[in-house]
Amino acid sequence: AKSDGRGCYRLYAPPLGKAIQKRQLLAEELRLALNRSGDLALWYQPIMDSSGQNMLGVEALLRWTHPVWGSISPADFIPVAEETGLILPLGDWVIRQACLMAQRCPGLTISINVSPLQFLSPNFFAHLSASVQQHGISPHQLELEITESVLLGEQQQVLELLQRLRRTGYRIALDDFGTGYSSLNYLMQFPVDTLKIDRCFIQLLGIQAQANAIVESVIALGHSLGLRITAEGVETESQRLALAAAGCDKLQGFLLSPPQPVEKLFLMLKQPSG
Ligand code: C2E
Ligand code: CA
Ligand code: CA
Ligand code: CA
Repeated sequence: AKSDGRGCYRLYAPPLGKAIQKRQLLAEELRLALNRSGDLALWYQPIMDSSGQNMLGVEALLRWTHPVWGSISPADFIPVAEETGLILPLGDWVIRQACLMAQRCPGLTISINVSPLQFLSPNFFAHLSASVQQHGISPHQLELEITESVLLGEQQQVLELLQRLRRTGYRIALDDFGTGYSSLNYLMQFPVDTLKIDRCFIQLLGIQAQANAIVESVIALGHSLGLRITAEGVETESQRLALAAAGCDKLQGFLLSPPQPVEKLFLMLKQPSG
């Protein structure tokens, strides 16, 4: 097992030649999967309030089940999709599926992961709007999760796009906050609604005093800038308690619920609370 540097472990690291071959094969199979599309699915992970009792929304997470290889982690195929440009049709597919889900669940807020290449592609806003209109949903039902690396792109273009999206009613979340290269002054420059504190910090709550200090400061700072804060990867009740005490707005993680297939999410939505 090899660490990917973020506290997440991958099954193996093949030698370079093999790795390239594997990537090409993965890309070819992903192209096929996009055309068959029965192999792809969006699962939904509930995002709860800090009591852990009330669902505030869900994050859409892509799942790929290959007919022979079985399930393949997004951590393995998303980077390949980004390198090959397949992320563009794949990202469109994700948007359409999420819009369909939003149409079926009118009160539900759905967060969608948008890769930097997709976000910065010239047709992104047009594609998104077309899909939203086609499904007759409100942009308020969608939150776009972007990573800090997007903010390192052409600044004026990024700023204008963010402003346009927010004016239209889309919400923006900054994903994996704290792991990227950008500094806090990006928060003053770029309009976002939510910060998602990366799992790496949440995992160390109660274990490393610095993690508590960082998480508490990010929550306080975010609030003073008028942002909402989501904690990712909440796995234990003691983490939840620390986050609730620090005033964290939203929680996501295995403690609350793992990602769920559509039918299971429907059942959860029917239950009065949680
Ligand atoms: P992410 O956006 O940071 O998503 C959170 C990841 O953490 C998900 O992994 C989720 O299943 C996992 N997770 C949630 N709660 C816990 C927890 O309590 N403990 C642990 N250990 N993990 C938890 P997943 O589904 O494997 O996705 C991995 C990454 O792949 C995502 O990270 C995201 O960057 C990317 N991804 C997934 N779906 C899409 C998509 O539709 N489009 C794009 N562009 N990227 C996607
Ligand atoms: Ca995300
Ligand atoms: Ca994340
Ligand atoms: Ca992540």
